[in-house]
Amino acid sequence: MLKQLTQQDLFELFDRLAEQYHLLMPTLLTDGSRELMPWPGSKAAAIDGIIPSMAGEPIQRKPTSHFFPQTDPLVFLKPDGTVSVPQPPDKPLALCGLNREDLAAVAFVDRFFSAEPADDVYLAKRSGALLIGLSGHCGDGSHGDHFLPLAQGLCDIELIAEEPNEEKKEQEKQWLAVVYNAVGEQWLSGFAAGSPQRLELLRHKSVTMGHQQQELLQQASRLLQADQVPDSFWQEISSRCIRCGGCNFVCPTCTCFCVQDRTTTAGTQRSRIWDSCQLDAFMREASGHNPLGTELLRTRRRIHHKLVDDPKRWGEISCVLCGRCDRACPTGIGMVAVCEELVRRFTS
Ligand code: SF4
Ligand code: SF4
Repeated sequence: MLKQLTQQDLFELFDRLAEQYHLLMPTLLTDGSRELMPWPGSKAAAIDGIIPSMAGEPIQRKPTSHFFPQTDPLVFLKPDGTVSVPQPPDKPLALCGLNREDLAAVAFVDRFFSAEPADDVYLAKRSGALLIGLSGHCGDGSHGDHFLPLAQGLCDIELIAEEPNEEKKEQEKQWLAVVYNAVGEQWLSGFAAGSPQRLELLRHKSVTMGHQQQELLQQASRLLQADQVPDSFWQEISSRCIRCGGCNFVCPTCTCFCVQDRTTTAGTQRSRIWDSCQLDAFMREASGHNPLGTELLRTRRRIHHKLVDDPKRWGEISCVLCGRCDRACPTGIGMVAVCEELVRRFTS
């Protein structure tokens, strides 16, 4: 199903969605960054300019954190022995504004936590959630046009911003809405039909853009699988790591966690919390033995896991090239930076 929406139609759609979902929208914060925040309703949005923040610039908080949060309470034990588990939310989540990379990350983590033994804590939050992708000409006009490649699936509804009409600048933004399943159809059925020709033009533009960094990852993956990268490389790269864990904590496809109990007079809260393979204690055993006891081994593992181990297990590289770790790493050894270095040095 393909629909054509005006900005006014979008407001109407969001208002209706917010009645049944906790609808989170890309929102411009005062420091210039963007975050998924609750939809305030169309009247407030018109005043606060919520729609312009769908301009397509990156959202640093990973989308998977809405289903797999940094601290995730599992069970609560009271001093009298009563055990309780967190109640499910009153409404499912609807995440709006995810780009192609973020949708790919959610799809990967869905596969990971759905594999046997399935993770019911993750699936309870993910089940019934609505994903709304964002692509196309997402510039808000103040920073020029900004084209996001089409996601072409991996979501329920994809909103594709059409190219602004230079001759009719006052005309409101137009959107194509591609619906990928019955849930999406239910929400979009009342709107006007979209033009397949216009969608085809946008698809063509998206395909011709390509993705140079995909080839970089593939090259790095092949070098690692062929065991052509010596320890001296990892020694040099890992000497720059300050063990902050940022690369893992921002990565939407990282899924490692550990379990923590916190006891107060009210009882004991057992939660799972994110872990980081760049931290010394990540695999340290009670005996003191540590299979990842050096920075070299930990940095190599971080890259190997995405480019070698996950392709073996899942049939795909688990880095979606979202760019978060390269933006977050204070010493410049995020995924793309390491792959660029690796390919430059070891490709003959
Ligand atoms: S670019 Fe970095 S943060 Fe993003 S998916 Fe790849 S490894 Fe994770
Ligand atoms: S973000 Fe950079 S410095 Fe921090 S743990 Fe990761 S690789 Fe090391």
